[in-house]
Amino acid sequence: MSQPFIKVENVSYSYDEEINLIPAVSGVSLEIEEGSYVAFAGRNGSGKSTFAKLLNMILEPSDGKIYISGKEIDVNAMTDAELMETRRNIGMVFQNPDNQLVATIVEDDVAFGPENLGVPSDEIRRRVDDALKTVGMSEYAKSEPQRLSGGQKQRIAIAGIIAMMPKCIIFDESTAMLDPSGRREVVDMMEKLNREYGITIITITHYMDEAVRADRVIVMDGGRVVMDGTPEQVYAEPEKIRAAGLELPQCAELVCRLREKGIKLDGCCITPESCAELICRALEVTSNE
Ligand code: ADP
Ligand code: MG
Repeated sequence: MSQPFIKVENVSYSYDEEINLIPAVSGVSLEIEEGSYVAFAGRNGSGKSTFAKLLNMILEPSDGKIYISGKEIDVNAMTDAELMETRRNIGMVFQNPDNQLVATIVEDDVAFGPENLGVPSDEIRRRVDDALKTVGMSEYAKSEPQRLSGGQKQRIAIAGIIAMMPKCIIFDESTAMLDPSGRREVVDMMEKLNREYGITIITITHYMDEAVRADRVIVMDGGRVVMDGTPEQVYAEPEKIRAAGLELPQCAELVCRLREKGIKLDGCCITPESCAELICRALEVTSNE
């Protein structure tokens, strides 16, 4: 069996044990396969960002072990080159697009990461062009980031990460500050990077309609993993979802309400398509009776 890309073994993290009685992340164990598309959901303060920062090595576990591509992450035992290589492989896109753009011209911004990695300049040129093309922003190469929409700014931030050629990108609530069309731009981009380029996507979101687009949904509460499965499996347990302080995706909520009104619907549905099918099947049964 091939080794998992990310392996987390009984990891905990406390910011300050005296102030925070409950660790921000508490005894988390899980594996993430290379090329997968995983969504983390959970109420505010459930430990999602802390967990993401542990994976990205911004924070070090207070307890437990993290392995990336089979290699234990140990800041003290790793050489600077190993550390940099591991960090490069896991990019992170944050919530506020304005805080992530550093240059006054789009292409300089995208070049910033690879420049810091010491990539030769002709190679940087190629990577910047490719990255802008991937996110559909080539025509804005010479623009000022400040003039772009929120969704466009996030796509530039994503291009800056892609230019470092990571194996994995973590999106920490990267759509939270965007309008619906900006959200769609960014989620479509996650899907494209995963499906077409095989990049492992870890997305943290409180929009359940975004989480259902992943292959796997992990729900955190109180620093622990409380649910982990395919979207269909996870959203088939509405009581657990609600207990974790989350809402159901709209389609699943609709089916739940129809059931409460006595309409017989079998199965779980999370997308408009599966929802329509479920209702059609129920209507057919009714009209045949
Ligand atoms: P989420 O991203 O799910 O909202 P966080 O990982 O940000 O959750 O927070 C988890 C817990 O850690 C919360 O109780 C939060 O108050 C605490 N916390 C987060 N950041 C800090 C910090 N810099 N210092 C102290 N406590 C923090
Ligand atoms: Mg957070």
